[in-house]
Amino acid sequence: MDIKVCKFGGSSVKDPSQIKKVFNIVKDDKKRRVVVVSAPGRDETYDEKITDHLLNLATNGNHFFEQKVHINPKQSYDVIINKFKKLCDDLKIEKTSILKDLKADLDNKNLSGVKKEAFFLSRGEHYNAKIINEYFKISGLNSKLKLPEDFKFILNENFCDGRIERESYKNIESSFSFKEDEIYIVPGFYGVTKNNEIAVMSRGGSDLTGGEIAYALDADLYENWTDTNGVYEVDPRIINDANVIPRLTFKEIRLLSSKGFNVFHFNAMLNCKKSKIPINIRNTNNPLDKGTMILNERVPMEDLVGIAKLDNMASIHIQKNMLGDEIGFTAELLRIFEEYHVNTYHYPTDKDDIAILVDQEDLKGNINNLRRQIEKRLKTNRITVTYNLSIITLVGIGLKENAFALVDAITALKDNNITFEMFDMSPSKISFHIGVSQNIADAALKTLHKKLIKGK
Ligand code: ASP
Repeated sequence: MDIKVCKFGGSSVKDPSQIKKVFNIVKDDKKRRVVVVSAPGRDETYDEKITDHLLNLATNGNHFFEQKVHINPKQSYDVIINKFKKLCDDLKIEKTSILKDLKADLDNKNLSGVKKEAFFLSRGEHYNAKIINEYFKISGLNSKLKLPEDFKFILNENFCDGRIERESYKNIESSFSFKEDEIYIVPGFYGVTKNNEIAVMSRGGSDLTGGEIAYALDADLYENWTDTNGVYEVDPRIINDANVIPRLTFKEIRLLSSKGFNVFHFNAMLNCKKSKIPINIRNTNNPLDKGTMILNERVPMEDLVGIAKLDNMASIHIQKNMLGDEIGFTAELLRIFEEYHVNTYHYPTDKDDIAILVDQEDLKGNINNLRRQIEKRLKTNRITVTYNLSIITLVGIGLKENAFALVDAITALKDNNITFEMFDMSPSKISFHIGVSQNIADAALKTLHKKLIKGK
């Protein structure tokens, strides 16, 4: 379909001046016909998102208490009410019925447990979409509110981590009829179960709403508007002259985002990839910038597009003579990790040893028993655990044709006296991983960026 689905994240809809930017962006392109919005994000007056305040209220203060944040439910209540009141006032929208409904929702005593959490969590998107829709209307756009409970965005009964049910796609298709110049405002993140109860997807779920709607409508483009210019070739907080990657493939972004690149909800890409709908990451605060385009295919002009870094990793190095010849050794080893719910990342292996790389957080409270089980069940000779490692991952579909980039990487590290603990190339040959001690990881990243990306 000849339309663009746009999703605006919390920072893009956090206050009136941001909402006005959103209005201008939508008005600027007639193909922008579906606008998915998040709840207001953090602003200058409070450090927590509205969604977190809502959860704090639903859990009677437990949510912030667990994070050692000192905000009680009453304070959260006031922040939420004041936020929406101020939005209405500043955008000159009639607030009486919005505030009356919001207060009734927040005073809801009929729900408990996860159903209550899901309902409260959804209210940020729900009321923000109502306000944005009113603002768009009074500002001259033919906008219509499309609520998930009305068009039946059906989720399963995992109330706080709901997954979309197939019938939702048909419901979206039949409800989004695009009469004349209609623009649809949709609150992201939540849906309803088959019994019409509110459920939410996982946190950051507005990305998912946008992705699912783009897929259902077979949109030309899914625009994901946020507060950065796109996906950077390296973390710009570490390397301040890092550039945005103009075009990258779904496969590349997946490799980068699983290695510390926090771009957007990974699952939001799955259906877009299936239907070859490109995703464009754009900056609401800099709409002239073209951002990053994520595509199924691109011409590999450069070997390498991005370098990610994942900190706080540990390597569990297991030695046993001839373990490589023991059928089932690795399977049993991985089973032990599974039993302790420890996610495994890479496992370089050889005849007499294997190393398993894991997030060291996952080892907390587990490492003793894990080591005992491995020794007992696999009769190993020696186990050495190294903590505080960083995994640096170099990604690019062009590496397939030019694996010599690896030589440049190693030479650059050698020239700068940076030693590494591990080296591993992925079977697809489009990414490779270098394990370094965490205290020199930033230096390693800068060196590799300078040589392999900047230097080209
Ligand atoms: N407001 C929700 C959250 O903070 C969903 C979203 O913003 O995408 O997780």
